[in-house]
Amino acid sequence: MTPEDAVMKLLQDWSPDVTTLLKQAGYFSPSMSEVAKEEIAQKIGFGKGGRLYNKIKAASAEKNWEIAKIVINEESLIELKQGARQVAKELGIPFSEFDWNPVAQKYFKEEGLKLVKGLTATDLKRLKQEIQTHFGLNEKTFARKYGASYSCSPYRMKTIFRTEKFRAINAGEYLEAKEVGAVTKTWQHSTGPNPRKDHLAMTGETVGIDELFSDGEQYPQMVNCRCRVDYSFTGKGRNWAGANPRKSDSQPKKETPVEIQKASPKAKGEKLH
Ligand SMILES: [Zn+2]
Repeated sequence: MTPEDAVMKLLQDWSPDVTTLLKQAGYFSPSMSEVAKEEIAQKIGFGKGGRLYNKIKAASAEKNWEIAKIVINEESLIELKQGARQVAKELGIPFSEFDWNPVAQKYFKEEGLKLVKGLTATDLKRLKQEIQTHFGLNEKTFARKYGASYSCSPYRMKTIFRTEKFRAINAGEYLEAKEVGAVTKTWQHSTGPNPRKDHLAMTGETVGIDELFSDGEQYPQMVNCRCRVDYSFTGKGRNWAGANPRKSDSQPKKETPVEIQKASPKAKGEKLH
């Protein structure tokens, strides 16, 4: 049974009238644009900003806070400080983790929120597909089904955790470099197995300390990205040759891609770093 057939069956069982209306509106036509689908979903109460949508969004944000608490913990604070200590050392600057605590707290306040928002956006994208697949379910059943399945797989937790770890190190380096007056930063790609082409191309790209790199990031923080940044006081060449050793760079190369394909067919071919 194709997904379209499954949707049709659910709808037929649930409400022939709605099925007919949707059919007439062309909702199941392959040529129906996403915008038009969104309009139809809106009209029948499942669209963005609708009651169910908002309900799921709230549930999603709540659940993501739970994940954030697991990810943004004492350990990520250690990673953050590690990054800061490392960059301070390489730049020849004394580093006191006690003086540095307000910066760390600020980071967690802001980045914690960013993480939660990011997760919610991913969930909402998925929500749209789920709604189409399980269209015939009533609101309560749908919310339960979606809520139970959407984000806590061990795979996803692992990805989030690993990403947060690298993000914390990179953030620590960036915040410390900025604090001590570094002038420029230079993107360095990790030697990982499955690079994002655009990140690979950015290797050696140097911008001002407050400027964004050409991919719009202040420092590497995409999911699964293991790129890093070198900082310089002079803006001419590197004072620091990115001596932050990344354990995972030396791990077996096939690990991550295999996991991702298993976990989500959609992620196949996804660039990792
Ligand atoms: Zn990268």
